[in-house]
Amino acid sequence: MINSRQQRLSLVVPVFNEEEAIRPFLDRTLPVLERAAALVSAETSLEIVFVNDGSTDATAAVLGALTQRDMRIKLVNLSRNFGKEAAVAAGLNYASGDAIIPIDVDLQDPPELIEPMVVKWLAGAKAVEAVRTDRTSDSWYKRVTANGFYRLYNCFAEQPIRENVGDFRLLDREVVEVLRSLSERSRFNKALYSWVGFARETVEFTRARRSAGTSKWKYWRLWNFALDGLTASTTAPLRVWTYLGALTAIAAFAYAAFIVIHTLVFGVDSPGYASLLTVVLFMGGLNMLALGIMGEYVGRIAKEVRGRPLYVVQSTLGF
Ligand code: UDP
Ligand code: MG
Repeated sequence: MINSRQQRLSLVVPVFNEEEAIRPFLDRTLPVLERAAALVSAETSLEIVFVNDGSTDATAAVLGALTQRDMRIKLVNLSRNFGKEAAVAAGLNYASGDAIIPIDVDLQDPPELIEPMVVKWLAGAKAVEAVRTDRTSDSWYKRVTANGFYRLYNCFAEQPIRENVGDFRLLDREVVEVLRSLSERSRFNKALYSWVGFARETVEFTRARRSAGTSKWKYWRLWNFALDGLTASTTAPLRVWTYLGALTAIAAFAYAAFIVIHTLVFGVDSPGYASLLTVVLFMGGLNMLALGIMGEYVGRIAKEVRGRPLYVVQSTLGF
């Protein structure tokens, strides 16, 4: 590919309390990134946009010092913790590259993959996804729940997502522009990436263990994240109730007819306390469930209507 103007590669790195992980990340990533840039052309520049997602440790100080020493390192400080999805969205807004790669700072996404990604991008792919072929570094519990989620999600969602692909991927400028134009507040990046479409390629890797620190995703947070993902991509859980409601109504009607006829023919029966209570409780439970699911959607509608920004930037360094 011949480039008439200078190209740029950007990395977007969300960080939340990662003071120990930053140095090893840069030591391993910078040489690879330089090699990848050289693949594009000799003049290709690079930048690493760190998004400090409201860290309470020395992350901001460590990164602030780095931006002074290295022109290629940039820092966006969010005003508090907004979560990884928002942090990545902020990074995509600030990165100026022709190809942009969101990557975790804990080296669980091997930076060596950047080179093959760039090769595929140069060959014309608009998005290159990094697929985890082996998740044995995750606990079995996390693997089972993740698999279950993908299964359930793809069963309902209008646009299926690829299993075992995280945020680590290369996105062409064109794709990033489309992503930036999406305004939704309940962010589920994976779904957005697949929703935009475009010619995509994959590279494969084995997910490593965390280099330092601990995972920032606790199970409750993951559960809520999964709910966000499902409700953002499908209204099937709402529609289910139309059919379930219709079925129970038909059953109830048939049973009512049976009781009326039975009473007319045989007279009043002995009282059916147990069956009555069972039906009442069952119907009550169904109603609560349906209401709860409605509530999930109504809550998200409220969030969208309020229209608050996805994140708040406190300061930027190195831009
Ligand atoms: N992260 C973030 N904000 C958060 C949680 C995580 O920016 O609220 C960042 C974190 O610093 C790391 C990446 O997102 O660079 C992935 O997080 P983590 O390694 O904790 O997730 P896991 O690999 O366990 O899924
Ligand atoms: Mg991690």
